[in-house]
Amino acid sequence: MSSDSDNSNTSGAKTSPVKRVVIAGGGTAGWMAATALSKLLGKSLSITLVESKDIGIVGVGEATIPPIRTFHKLLGIDEKAFMRATNATFKLGIEFENWREQNHSYIHSFGVTGRECWAGEFHHFWLRAKNLGFGGDFGDYCTELKAAKEGKFAYGERMPMNFAYHFDAVAYGRFLKGLAVEAGVTHIEGDIQHVSKCSQTGCITSIKLSDDKEIAGDLFIDCTGFKGLLIEKALHTGYENWSHWLPCDSALAVQTASTGAPIPYTKSVAHTAGWRWKIPLQNRVGNGLVYCSNYMSDDEAKNTLLDAIEGDTLNEPRIIRFTPGKRRLGWNKNCVALGLASGFIEPLESTSIHLIMTGIVRLMRLFPFDGITQSTVDEYNNKYDSEMAAILDFIVMHYKVTNREDSPFWDHCKSMEIPPSLTHKINLFKQTGRVFLDDGDIFRVDSWTQVMMGQGLLPQQYHRVADEMSETELERFLAGLKQQVDNQVSALPSHHDFLEKYL
Ligand code: FAD
Repeated sequence: MSSDSDNSNTSGAKTSPVKRVVIAGGGTAGWMAATALSKLLGKSLSITLVESKDIGIVGVGEATIPPIRTFHKLLGIDEKAFMRATNATFKLGIEFENWREQNHSYIHSFGVTGRECWAGEFHHFWLRAKNLGFGGDFGDYCTELKAAKEGKFAYGERMPMNFAYHFDAVAYGRFLKGLAVEAGVTHIEGDIQHVSKCSQTGCITSIKLSDDKEIAGDLFIDCTGFKGLLIEKALHTGYENWSHWLPCDSALAVQTASTGAPIPYTKSVAHTAGWRWKIPLQNRVGNGLVYCSNYMSDDEAKNTLLDAIEGDTLNEPRIIRFTPGKRRLGWNKNCVALGLASGFIEPLESTSIHLIMTGIVRLMRLFPFDGITQSTVDEYNNKYDSEMAAILDFIVMHYKVTNREDSPFWDHCKSMEIPPSLTHKINLFKQTGRVFLDDGDIFRVDSWTQVMMGQGLLPQQYHRVADEMSETELERFLAGLKQQVDNQVSALPSHHDFLEKYL
């Protein structure tokens, strides 16, 4: 593979117009990009996707967050067809078990807690009530959270619900491939052996497959997974390693037969050196263990996972190694990296597929039909950086804000350095109850409050707007909201019954 390039982007001048897009890799990232570009910009572009038959996809990545629904709408995807094809279930949030301390659990749901107030958020009112000795659980005021707890689900015009999906990653790729090929994407199977670059600009000119077929393009999208065949191996973009903030570096994944009706949320259970996921689909369950190899051996991890799961295993547990972090540039020269090729933050809050989606949308908005300019590349990269930094803060917070001190791993997390931006967010919340949101933050105040308080960080103060209500008014206000949530949830069918009827 050629290696004569540096990291400088295209200089002041524009490249030639972009008409031919080559997508390298046919995992979730490749097919999401192919579907979106062909459906929305396909009249102006010729799009080719190259994937290897022999190099598989990572095959995990089965839990999502709500914006995926907007993405599907944008692409005109029929929800029922998608759910049937991918054995999908509905997801209302994530339950975090043993994260604050052993035998404690809380749910980070996708719903709004309480009601919005222009001067101060709902949690200030709830905090005042707690000080006065009433108010119940914070989760009592969120429909999605309570529905998740009770295994219930429905949505429709009269029942708005903020939700996402769990789905089979391999089937999702297959489903999208059908849509992309139908929309005109040229699909080529082959192994990329060589990447050619322009000797003057360092831009990629073509990729060569093992059968000597050469595919030329104006813009290349690297979706080749962790190896980053174009963005890293060919362009030497560089990688920011974040393992000093996110110590886990390994995962084991295994599928099991279902042992009961699917629950409408992901489960994340902390253990002595990381955490375990459980993702229920219609036909099976996806399980996995994320761990830090400095504190847990592969054998120990395998035993921990196999001891904890329920149901017969459907495959051998598979180890996946990763380095948390991000590419120094998400867009370098005429190459944009998406998915694992662009970086990886562990899947604790199901953010990876979301990042593929935001990368695609950003690329489409900035699409360089008339040629790539440095300002376009910088704009893309600035947004990519701020989005990744905000997610990093949110994920690291789960490890840092905890009472766990029962293993060397958790001792390490307690004492590790964290990004200064996260220190500010934690201090602000602790001292004043205010939540700081970054520009690029995909998580709302509701997410931050549910997780910070779920992890055990209770503010020392609340916003005095909550004092504007008398104690009786506050009590009546909260009781009314709680009643509303109770009424809504009691009218819901079980998640299983809704799925059966809906599909
Ligand atoms: P891959 O799936 O690895 O695909 C790479 C593609 O490149 C393949 O088609 C391969 O054939 C092709 N390729 C590679 N080399 C060549 C070559 N030489 N020639 C031709 N083709 C080549 N995300 C979530 O949002 N939610 C989750 O719950 C979640 N869980 C995860 C759990 C784990 C343990 C891991 C590791 C990731 C998880 N993710 C999750 C992330 C998610 O799996 C990925 O973001 C998603 O699958 C995208 O992968 P990809 O398409 O970038 O790469």
